Amino acid sequence: MFIDTHCHLNMIAPKQPLEPLKEHHFSVIEEAIEESRIADVTTIINVGTDLIESEASVLIAQRYQDVFATVGVHPTDCNQLPKSTHDTIVALKKLVSDKEYNKIVAIGEIGLDFYHKPYEEQKQKDYCRAQIELALANDLPVVIHVREAADAMLAVLEEYVSQGLRGVLHCFQQQQYVADQACNWGLLVGLDGPINYPKNAWLREIFAKIPLEHIVLETDAPFLPPQQLRGKPNRPAYIPLIAQELALLKNIDVAVVEKQTTANAIKLFGLEI
Ligand SMILES: [Zn+2]
Repeated sequence: MFIDTHCHLNMIAPKQPLEPLKEHHFSVIEEAIEESRIADVTTIINVGTDLIESEASVLIAQRYQDVFATVGVHPTDCNQLPKSTHDTIVALKKLVSDKEYNKIVAIGEIGLDFYHKPYEEQKQKDYCRAQIELALANDLPVVIHVREAADAMLAVLEEYVSQGLRGVLHCFQQQQYVADQACNWGLLVGLDGPINYPKNAWLREIFAKIPLEHIVLETDAPFLPPQQLRGKPNRPAYIPLIAQELALLKNIDVAVVEKQTTANAIKLFGLEI
């Protein structure tokens, strides 16, 4: 049994960004979940990216036994938000206050992204810190997005390591020293479809060295399909393809990858499955 630890089922649905999830959107989501079950991907963690998508994430989790939710504001979604994090944190707090009923297993995705321009560095850091603090106050892990901001991100994370920070550097595509530091702090890294893109030999080298106990599998669907499915929307059902790549890289049986990465995900997110 596999777990997709990072998926956006709400973006698989044929709706516009920021459009609230409606009843007629669920058939496509249901189809993707059915496909996953057939592929032995029995649990999906659906990740929020802003308040509307976080609410959608909770709605999907409440509806399907195999789905859990995260809530949070993605760094590139900070642009539209007010300078003060207050109202956003209040809204997230409200969702988290009933985290059992809302099936919320993490705060995310949060982080820093200096790739998409324009960006406001201070604002991203303020939102990131406020959401890490929300996670810590509620004994939840964080799902971290980082792009072209590795050193700034490590500096922020370091502030919270001694406070029991837990989390995953999602869709890990960073240098070796970032992986080493994350592992030292007890953080996990997420492995996605791009691992088998021809240009990513450097990343394969890094993942070959990251201990299996620090890796979780994720699709980031509908984005980033594995090489053999490029051009099509990604699906949580493709997790076994990513597991296969990791097994090849580490020269171990795919069953070992399956067992360990599933155990890692259950532990990190405190899943009751
Ligand atoms: Zn994502």
